[in-house]
Amino acid sequence: MTSFDKIQNFIDGQFVEPGGGNYLDNIEPATGKPYSLVPDSDARDVELAVAAAEKAFPGWSRTPAAERSRILLRIADLIERDLEKFAHAESIDTGKPLSLARGLDIPRASSNFRFFATAILHTENEAHVTDGVAFNYTLRQPRGVAGLISPWNLPLYLLSWKIAPAIAVGNTAVAKPSELTPMTAFLLCELCREAGLPDGVLNIVHGTGPNVGAAITEHPKISTISFTGGTMTGRKVAEAGAPLFKKISLELGGKNPNIIFADADLEAAIAGSVRSSFANQGQVCLCGSRVFVERSRYDEFVSRFKEKVSQLKLGDPLELGVDQGAIVSKTQLQKVMYYVDLARQEGGKIELGGETPLPPNERCREGYFFPPTVITNLPVSCRVNREEIFGPVITITPFESEEEVIRYANDVEYGLSSSVWTQNLSRAHRVAEQINSGTVWINCWLVRDLRVPFGGMKQSGVGREGGEEALRFFTEPKNVCIAKC
Ligand code: NDP
Repeated sequence: MTSFDKIQNFIDGQFVEPGGGNYLDNIEPATGKPYSLVPDSDARDVELAVAAAEKAFPGWSRTPAAERSRILLRIADLIERDLEKFAHAESIDTGKPLSLARGLDIPRASSNFRFFATAILHTENEAHVTDGVAFNYTLRQPRGVAGLISPWNLPLYLLSWKIAPAIAVGNTAVAKPSELTPMTAFLLCELCREAGLPDGVLNIVHGTGPNVGAAITEHPKISTISFTGGTMTGRKVAEAGAPLFKKISLELGGKNPNIIFADADLEAAIAGSVRSSFANQGQVCLCGSRVFVERSRYDEFVSRFKEKVSQLKLGDPLELGVDQGAIVSKTQLQKVMYYVDLARQEGGKIELGGETPLPPNERCREGYFFPPTVITNLPVSCRVNREEIFGPVITITPFESEEEVIRYANDVEYGLSSSVWTQNLSRAHRVAEQINSGTVWINCWLVRDLRVPFGGMKQSGVGREGGEEALRFFTEPKNVCIAKC
């Protein structure tokens, strides 16, 4: 193991060991073997990070927006410069195909910095004139130290989606990536130094949720928490933050419907559904894991969809032409297998996949692989159709009418996103209006304009981020009222 492979915390602009001196193995999912060490930090490390962030806040919050913008743009450029290095690191750390990290994750991380770096140059402040009495204007000021916690499925993509707006508007931050996928957050710190980000503006503390995540959410000097992860964890974050009246944004799980009407362009719907079902091995919170197809085209859809899915190449994530890599961890793999067994018990028919595949090569002999799995014949109300699996497993269910499928779509505790495939414009509007999810895609999936509000309804989250929503979330509006004398 080289010294590079020992990840360090980043506090006050320095790479430092965790105070307790403990490390965890960082496993490469494709091989099942440790390839680096990640700090097993605790509340003491979070304390140091908060102190550094607090110290940096007065200077950074008073830095002109143009200067903050310049530094963030430089970070964006440096990520682009190091695209290959970052993409390799992300692929090795997560098990996702290198092509996906190269084409989606890392470019998006760079775009996040670029987007918020320029957004802060174009903000406006509201003014309200109280007839003959006073003049009001709104100041939107940074809130102080922000706590940023992100999951393992899109590591740098999601962490940068929080870091960029938080620091762009003048906050300082203490961030925690998932301890399963810490590498690109570690690499980012080096680039922040190179870009000239002042010490203490961004601090990254690695470690487990119960040790580091909880210390962040409970810390009285962290006033703002942006969390992305599972619904159960989100509940703990909300419980920890509520007594301290923290401002909290929760981006949580999903069990998203993907609805194909008989009048859809089936070719496009099938191609889109293959992506929305199995991109990143189905480990995207926005994946459409419940596919509903109008009865008259159900058989045709199932057979053509299976044919397309069976062409997906599962293999070593670092190899060219691979569509499906490894599942992120052994625990996650076991969860996926548990749900496939449950589907069998619930009467499901495994149309495709469902069994552990042969290892794709010698290097990946002990990797965590599972094939794209398609299940039919399950009732809409069964557990497999209600609980988030977060893996390459989808169900397909027929429906008879628009009313029926809207009921199915909404009959879960989640409400993150949905896709609707139809050529009928009136129907598209009608259905979009009635589905309870934060995002509705019509004839597409995962088209993400960074300006739009993003978040979930019901147990998929509280609050919205993205574009203006993120700028508002990370600032405190203050009304200044001037009497008209
Ligand atoms: P988790 O909820 O397990 O973890 C998310 C983050 O929270 C991790 O960094 C984790 O650390 C940390 N954490 C764990 N316990 C605590 C705690 N008590 N206090 C504070 N932080 C804690 O989610 P996963 O990492 O398993 O990610 C998958 C989930 O994320 C899925 O449910 C998915 O739907 C959701 N997700 C939602 C998205 C959205 O935008 N709505 C986008 C992407 C994913 P550690 O890794 O150490 O456990």
